[in-house]
Amino acid sequence: MESSLVKDNPLLLPLNQDKTVYDGFITVQERDFRMRILLPPDRQLARARLHCCWQLKHLLRGYEHIVKQRLQQSADLVSFILELKTVLEVGLKSRPDCRSIPPPQYYSQLISEMETLGWAKLLSIDTEFQTLRLKAEDSSGRQHVLTVKLKSKHPAEAPECSADLPIPLVITWTPQSTLDQLHSQFLLLLESLTEFWDVLDEIDSKTWILEPEKPSRSDTTRRIAIGNNVSIKVQVDPRHPKMLPECCLLGAEHVVTPLRNKLNANMQLWNPDSSVLHNLRDVLEIEFPSPATHEKSSFSVECGICYSYRLEAAIPDQVCNDPRCGQPFHQACLYEWLRALPSSRQSFSIVFGECPYCSKPITVKMAAQKS
Ligand SMILES: [Zn+2]
Ligand SMILES: [Zn+2]
Repeated sequence: MESSLVKDNPLLLPLNQDKTVYDGFITVQERDFRMRILLPPDRQLARARLHCCWQLKHLLRGYEHIVKQRLQQSADLVSFILELKTVLEVGLKSRPDCRSIPPPQYYSQLISEMETLGWAKLLSIDTEFQTLRLKAEDSSGRQHVLTVKLKSKHPAEAPECSADLPIPLVITWTPQSTLDQLHSQFLLLLESLTEFWDVLDEIDSKTWILEPEKPSRSDTTRRIAIGNNVSIKVQVDPRHPKMLPECCLLGAEHVVTPLRNKLNANMQLWNPDSSVLHNLRDVLEIEFPSPATHEKSSFSVECGICYSYRLEAAIPDQVCNDPRCGQPFHQACLYEWLRALPSSRQSFSIVFGECPYCSKPITVKMAAQKS
C-alpha cells in the first residue's frame, strides 16, 4: 500500500516506521477535523481502526456502518479517505447544527443586539441560539413573524431570513448591520404590502373562501364561492393589489358562460381606487354569498364519487354540465372512474365518458400534479 496521500486530500502522515499509524486532518467544507487511523501489523485496511475528534464522531453518528463497509471495500487508504470525505459531506448537510459552533463573542454580540431591538420582540429562540423568531406588527395591526437564522460568523455574514410573505424577502446586510436594522427593514416591507393584505382581508371576511382552506399571508389566490358549484378564482398581484386580478370562473358551463361574458364586457369598469371585492361585484353584477347570509355547507357539496369534500387539498371542481344534474366531482375521482369504464374513450390526457349520475357526456383532464 502506498503511504503518500495525494495533495488535495486530507493531510495524513505516518507516525511510525511501519506505517501503521496515520495522524492528521480531514477537511470537509472548509472545516478541519482531527483524525487518526490505526492499521494492524499486516496493514489490512479492513481491520483498521479510526480515532476521531469528538466533532467528527458526532458527525459520523448514524453512519458508522457505512464507514465500516467503506473500510472493508476500499482498495487503499487514499480511496478510503476519499469515501470518508463523501460520507462526511452528506453528514454535514443533514446536520446543519454541526457546521460550526460560534465563538464566544457571538453570544455577547447577540445579547447586545437584542437589547437594542427590545426583548419583547423575541418570540422564540432555539437551543443553539442561532434561529430567532421576531415579531412585527404592521400599521393595520396584523401580526407577522420574521425568522432569522444567524450565521456563526454573525454579523460578518448575512443571516438567513424568512417570513410568510407573497414576495421574496430581500434584506440588505453589511458586516455593520444589526438585528434592529433588520427588523426595521422588515417593517418597511410589511408596510409596502398592507394594501395587498387589506384587499384579501376584506375578501376573506365578507365572502366564503373555498380555497385555500386556511389562507396564509403569502397566499395570493382565493377561490370565492359565487353559488352552488360556481366559484371564481382570483390571483391578486401583491405589487398592484387593486388592479384587475387574474380571474378564472369555475363551474358548469351554463352558469359560468354568462358570468364570463359579463366579466369581459365590464372589465373596463374596473376602478383601481375601489377594492377588489367591490370591483368584482360591479363587474360580475352579482352579490357574493357571505358568512352573514349563507352557510358554508351550501357551497361545499361533496364529490359524487368519494362522498367527501376535501381529497387531500382538492375540492370537487369538476361539475356535470347538464343543468338538471350539476353534480360535482373531484378531478382525480372522475378521471379514475371514467378510465375504468369500457364505454369511455381517452384522447391524450382527456377522458370522454358519461356522468355517473345522469349519464350525459362528461369529460375530464388527467389530474395534474398540484403545483
Ligand atoms: Zn372524490
Ligand atoms: Zn350529470
